[in-house]
Amino acid sequence: SALVDLRHVSRIYTADDKQTHALDDVSLHVGETEFVSLIGPSGCGKTTLLRLVAGLDSPQQGSVEVDGEPVTGPSHERGYVFQQGALFPWATVEANIATGLKARGVYSQQKARVREFVDMVGLSDFAHAYPHQLSGGMAQRVAIARALINEPRVLLLDEPMGALDSFTRIELQDKLLELWQRLASTMVLVTHDIDEAIYLSDRIVIMTPRPGRVSEVIDVQLERPRARGEAGFLR
Ligand code: ADP
Ligand code: ADP
Repeated sequence: SALVDLRHVSRIYTADDKQTHALDDVSLHVGETEFVSLIGPSGCGKTTLLRLVAGLDSPQQGSVEVDGEPVTGPSHERGYVFQQGALFPWATVEANIATGLKARGVYSQQKARVREFVDMVGLSDFAHAYPHQLSGGMAQRVAIARALINEPRVLLLDEPMGALDSFTRIELQDKLLELWQRLASTMVLVTHDIDEAIYLSDRIVIMTPRPGRVSEVIDVQLERPRARGEAGFLR
């Protein structure tokens, strides 16, 4: 059965007497260890869908379950990475990554574990650096490590590479694949970059311009590891 399970979900926003159907009767299932990308034009409800799975918002209709449990609020079981890292500016790389653990009250062997994740995202030389000293790609790696250190059942990524230059983006894509394989985690990625979706995903879900509808599910079952050239054919 699905790890992430949305059934007939609707989310309507009301502002100034105007109703926006951000999601309209959307169903989506993501299996354990699957890497799924959500693509679709701006405003089709991708962020709304991620926020519902994260427990940052709730639907008016339908059900959202992760691992068979209804989502009722945020949890370390569902890591979230924003387009721009949202790091604590006054805290070092190490301290930013450690905040994930602290929030859970895990103190034993915290230092070693934080170090492990600093190294895993390739920031060994920047463990004591502050966010303003990091490039955009480095900051996103910190945000990803901060979410992953909690061993979430699913990592939700909302255009994490959207603000990066293309070279840095390619680096981070490879890092994300490496982490996904190493930690056997489940990934749901929102992206505007079709090449990125093809390169990273097992499955691509297209959302249409009509409010929220998940129109098509394209199975991209390619053998891994995959040559980067294969993702380039749409260019
Ligand atoms: P993106 O295309 O990058 O997802 P959006 O502009 O659609 O960016 O939305 C960014 C965030 O702003 C959303 O997560 C949503 O919560 C909020 N937002 C979007 N539209 C509105 C709105 N009309 N009123 C209030 N908040 C909004
Ligand atoms: P996407 O991520 O695909 O760009 P969003 O999920 O951000 O789409 O938004 C879907 C629709 O819902 C858009 O029309 C957006 O303006 C609207 N919306 C999102 N968040 C809010 C909000 N907090 N208040 C009002 N409208 C919102």
